[in-house]
Amino acid sequence: MIRRTCGILATILLTGATLSAQTAPRPLVIYFVDVEGGQATLIKTPVGEAFLIDAGFPGGGGTFQSTPGAPESARDAQRILAAARDAGLTQIDHLMLTHYHADHSGGVMELSQLLPIRHFIDHSAPSAEAEVVVPGTQALYEAYIALRAKGTHTEPKPGDHLAIKGLDVVVVSSAGEVLTAPLDGAGAANPACISGGVPAQEKTENPRSTGIRLQYGKFRFLDIGDLSGPPQYALTCPRNLIGEADVYLIAHHGGADGADPALFAAVKPRVAVFDNGSRKGGQAPTFATIAQMPGIDGWQLHRSLNRDVINLPEERIANLDDSTSAWIKVTAQADGSFSVTNGRTGQTKAYPR
Ligand SMILES: [Zn+2]
Repeated sequence: MIRRTCGILATILLTGATLSAQTAPRPLVIYFVDVEGGQATLIKTPVGEAFLIDAGFPGGGGTFQSTPGAPESARDAQRILAAARDAGLTQIDHLMLTHYHADHSGGVMELSQLLPIRHFIDHSAPSAEAEVVVPGTQALYEAYIALRAKGTHTEPKPGDHLAIKGLDVVVVSSAGEVLTAPLDGAGAANPACISGGVPAQEKTENPRSTGIRLQYGKFRFLDIGDLSGPPQYALTCPRNLIGEADVYLIAHHGGADGADPALFAAVKPRVAVFDNGSRKGGQAPTFATIAQMPGIDGWQLHRSLNRDVINLPEERIANLDDSTSAWIKVTAQADGSFSVTNGRTGQTKAYPR
């Protein structure tokens, strides 16, 4: 009798625990994976799916000259896999490639051998000039489209919403085009605009980057890949078409063409992330822009060794040199509060509502 009562009690307790686990709102988790100055941003959605934006460099060396090889020794694909394991993810439900440069699309082939990829989102193809400026782009693209053909494929236009459960993800730029009308609640004139903005460092494929604004409840994240030059300018000048965001992955790894103060003034991020390498991205003008804007915490994947850079405090730098590969992790709640964890130190900074 006693044993039976205990059994019933255990069942009730277990049911209660299961119910509270089901009803408790789950966070959105974003891993900024260290791919040495490329991009690989792994998002675990509140319903437990994986949304990966870019896949880092190819090969063991992980440079623009590297080619895809064995997945066991693929530097960046292995780092994405480690983040996926940390998050409890076993496949990539949605992969978006912002554009077709090796530091963003290069790791896809190797990653696909480590984790199945179901849904591909991109802007179709690189322009004809892309191969001239960055040799190797076309070969990576041709390998990718063979892989893409095995899953579902979406080529969204600016203003389209991506079909990702539990999130509102709107495309703000793609294939050189940007929004033509403001998103809900946006559209105010931006007095910080300086005529023409900042010229793009690379003028063929970067300005064609597919960019998104992701919303979970009241929390917003902006990722525009390497969007630079006139399309970047058009997002927030002369009117702010995209509104504000809590976390902003700085365009083009925080290079000088991501430094336009007008964009930061419009978006008003509380956290701005440099997905830089020790000598790639993360240039002095962008650090200077952030330093002069109150209320923005910069976070860096790497301490920058570039000329004239004044690095941020060490607690907001994930990797002090190239001997480590720590991530930056953002955990966001639907009420708009979030926290940022430095993967090197394990320390977390809270950003209340
Ligand atoms: Zn890039």
